Amino acid sequence: MNASTYFLYARKSTDVEDKQVLSIDAQLFELRDFAKSQGLNIVAEYVEKQSAKTPGRPIFNKMLARVEAGEAAGILAWHPDRLARNSVDGGKIIYLLDTGTLRSLKFPRTWFENTPQGKLMLHNEFGFSKYYVDSLAENTKRGLREKVRRGEYPGAAPFGYLNDYRTKRIIIDRERAPLVREVYETYATGTVTLDFVRQFLGKRGVRTRNGKLMTRAFVSWLVSNPFYYGHFRYAGEMYAGIHEPIISKALFDRVKEVLHIRRRRVGPVLPQSDSKPLLGLLHCAECGGAITAEIQKGHTYYRCTKKIGGRKCSQPYVREEVLAADLSDMLRPYALRADWAEAMLKRVKEEETSAAQSAASLATQKRGEIDQISGKLQRLLDGFLDGAIDRDAYLTAKASLMGQKKTLEEQRVALARGQPTWLEPFKNWILAAKNAGQIAMTGTLQEKKVLARKVFGSNLVLDRKKARGSALNPWSFLLENHACSEVVGDTGLEPVTSCM
Ligand SMILES: [Zn+2]
Repeated sequence: MNASTYFLYARKSTDVEDKQVLSIDAQLFELRDFAKSQGLNIVAEYVEKQSAKTPGRPIFNKMLARVEAGEAAGILAWHPDRLARNSVDGGKIIYLLDTGTLRSLKFPRTWFENTPQGKLMLHNEFGFSKYYVDSLAENTKRGLREKVRRGEYPGAAPFGYLNDYRTKRIIIDRERAPLVREVYETYATGTVTLDFVRQFLGKRGVRTRNGKLMTRAFVSWLVSNPFYYGHFRYAGEMYAGIHEPIISKALFDRVKEVLHIRRRRVGPVLPQSDSKPLLGLLHCAECGGAITAEIQKGHTYYRCTKKIGGRKCSQPYVREEVLAADLSDMLRPYALRADWAEAMLKRVKEEETSAAQSAASLATQKRGEIDQISGKLQRLLDGFLDGAIDRDAYLTAKASLMGQKKTLEEQRVALARGQPTWLEPFKNWILAAKNAGQIAMTGTLQEKKVLARKVFGSNLVLDRKKARGSALNPWSFLLENHACSEVVGDTGLEPVTSCM
């Protein structure tokens, strides 16, 4: 074998440890030039695009097999780290040099001689290349963990947010964040389906790359992602993020409740449709089946799907106009008399003032509860680190404690603003009840449906062409106390003694 026969080996992977390395073309150019100037006879060129941090590169192994078969006396490469970044491949090269199978290595920028000193130097080079990979992996992991602990989400910003590449922070996407909020608010009413959300997003220009509606999986991810109220999951663990939340934890919880009800519900979730606005509001009184709708000769008819367990159901069709009139009749008693509404709003205002005074002490109390949870979280982490608690139990308990903490923090912030958390929903209820009469009379079907869902929850049934259901609190209070009103002419709401 001619001592000047060489294999040329060039390698560059897309992995992070090869980021600073010359491109394969540049390596080839430099190596061919070097071979020419040194009078080396290149028998074959090998190009590999794989990382050398673990053994098992096919092209490298093929080349070594040919070296062992005596087809070349040496190997030419740009740097020792091109040949090996792991102890197995590095050891193999040195062993081939020890046994004389491999007579020489050449590197354009590094001196190497097949002597004990030369091999010691090579050994160090391989060792350093391995150390470089090891520390890089450790630094990357450590860097990510640090980032996560600081509350910075280490990935691409989810829908509704943007990555600010200048500050390396995740910031609100002013265009899409309002859509996220609207989706949550609408879905929390319990009157729309995930398909409705897909169509809603589609109408607002949120579509897949080829113009189709977003998948149902995307929507269900969207309405159950804790990122939107400020937390995020990383490697299975929940962290408090420093990004600005789009929604409150309270709203997230309401959506979670709707999702929970939907999952429990028997039968198919029917698609939302503009021409069948009352879908999803009622169940069959007889068999518990879902109510479906059909359009015939310009009229929409609602009926039981009769799909539960093949049971026989005798419920008839009902025309939309009939059902809508029935709903109006049902809703009217739940209109709050205008004078009552005014009196109650006045009372709420007084309550707000006095509440502001006691809010400070309540806020302090919440602060204490939050501190307690922080203590529990710390003890939980200690237990996990001591090995007393297994990982699954730790992750579950941590996520739950963090959720409780977030809820308390929101309450504390509300208190700091001087407003008890029940006042806002109560005020909203008064306003909704005040408008109920108007909606019952002149509202759209969608408005009636939203109101009916507020008043009756998900207990509304269709029985012999009539809707039936009992009101939830505090709506039921209006019937018990005859506080309802009736609409008289065009003058608006007029209080009456009783509208029963
Ligand atoms: Zn039925």
